[in-house]
Amino acid sequence: MRIYNTLSRRQEEFKPIEEGKVSMYVCGPTVYNLIHIGNARPMIVFDTFRRYMTYRGYDVNYVSNFTDVDDKIIKKANEEGVSAEEISERYIKECKKDMEGLNVLPATTHPKATEEIDGMIEMIKSLIEKGHAYAAEDGTVYFKTRSFKDYGKLSHKNIDDLEGGHRDIKVNGAEGKEDYLDFVLWKPKKEGEPYWESPWCEGRPGWHIECSVMSKRYLGETIDIHAGGEDLIFPHHENEIAQSEAANGEPFAHYWMHNGFLNIDNKKMSKSLGNFFTVRDIAEKYDLQVLRFFMLNAHYRSPLNFSAELMEAAKAGLDRIKTAVSDLSFKKKNSDKRELSEEEAGMLKEAEGFKQRFNEAMDDDLNTADAISVIFELVKFANTSSKEGCSAAYAAGLKGLITELSGVLGLIVEEKEEILDSDIEALINERQEARKNKDFKRADEIRDELLSRGIVLKDTREGVKWERA
Ligand code: AMP
Ligand code: ZN
Repeated sequence: MRIYNTLSRRQEEFKPIEEGKVSMYVCGPTVYNLIHIGNARPMIVFDTFRRYMTYRGYDVNYVSNFTDVDDKIIKKANEEGVSAEEISERYIKECKKDMEGLNVLPATTHPKATEEIDGMIEMIKSLIEKGHAYAAEDGTVYFKTRSFKDYGKLSHKNIDDLEGGHRDIKVNGAEGKEDYLDFVLWKPKKEGEPYWESPWCEGRPGWHIECSVMSKRYLGETIDIHAGGEDLIFPHHENEIAQSEAANGEPFAHYWMHNGFLNIDNKKMSKSLGNFFTVRDIAEKYDLQVLRFFMLNAHYRSPLNFSAELMEAAKAGLDRIKTAVSDLSFKKKNSDKRELSEEEAGMLKEAEGFKQRFNEAMDDDLNTADAISVIFELVKFANTSSKEGCSAAYAAGLKGLITELSGVLGLIVEEKEEILDSDIEALINERQEARKNKDFKRADEIRDELLSRGIVLKDTREGVKWERA
């Protein structure tokens, strides 16, 4: 697998630190609102990367944080007159719902910044001891940017160009910053803000230190891949590198992957510009699989313009795959149950070749757009070659291949098997039997199971009736 590494600005062959394993950290959202579809882009893209690596046999340790203490969260809490924790917990829950809808797998670990404060204090202490940080009089702790000689290596900026003659600028109104380039590791609380005790003042961490600490705790000092949207390259990721490498004396991440922006009218979609759609907005109109498919139709590093037309095209494309799969399901059920003919066996072997080409596309810096083209070709091959009187086994083979490759992209292309009326009747009878025997636990289990399959039971005078929810 080759991936484009922002650090070297080149495609590089991926070599994991430990054979067969991938350690990966993806910067997660700040939780003060429903996520917009721009935020969904890194979730979908890096989830797809993770799925592909898993598919190729790697054991992927995937960590993605929630930033749950931040000015915006505090502001929202004050507006609503509730605690910051209530806001962040609410939007973590909502974010997880959106992830589920987008078929983004839960991370191996989803750490929250507020639960990692001790580790942050430890890292800040060690940075001070090593001469990379200092506390100002008001208790703000700053990272001494010039003390880290590689500063700028990720964003390819020259430290002297950054200064721009603003030596005296203060940050957050705090006094005592020695150099314009220094950034905050810890800041004193303001009235009404959540805070933690620390050796410097009652306060809270800066944003960058969170990720350095959570990455180290769950993945170790040096990790394979660190990822996020390209807006994070500078200063967030540059600062993470400075903190982590200064504190640990080890390289922080071997590969840096960044997704391009999701735009509207060629402008970055963002909360602050107000030009956004939430994932929830899209879910009102489309199955979220369509949004996932739309995103994967572009290369992850390219900018991607969102538009109604492109969503419609994505819907049509995804439907084409789903229709092929549903036709093959029908054939699998209703065709001859004979063995594969020799010709069919040959054609299935030919179809396996699409898998090879799919992998080649994905190995080429996660070229999901090309991988989707391969799936379309496979669909075409399936539609033509299964047209007349194929065996059930042949239909099953093709269907398996299409669902397998779509599944690697996290696309669900198969309708859930319709639950048969006779199954429902059998379960209802079992429930009646259980109730007669006063086994109410089993009776309730059956009711819940049916409910989860979209069947609502109604106890009526004539007996139990059911309907689809
Ligand atoms: P935030 O909550 O703003 O820190 O963003 C969470 C993640 O979404 C980060 O990886 C950002 O880089 C990413 N992100 C935010 N806006 C966009 C956008 N319009 N397009 C692509 N990625 C974005
Ligand atoms: Zn981060």
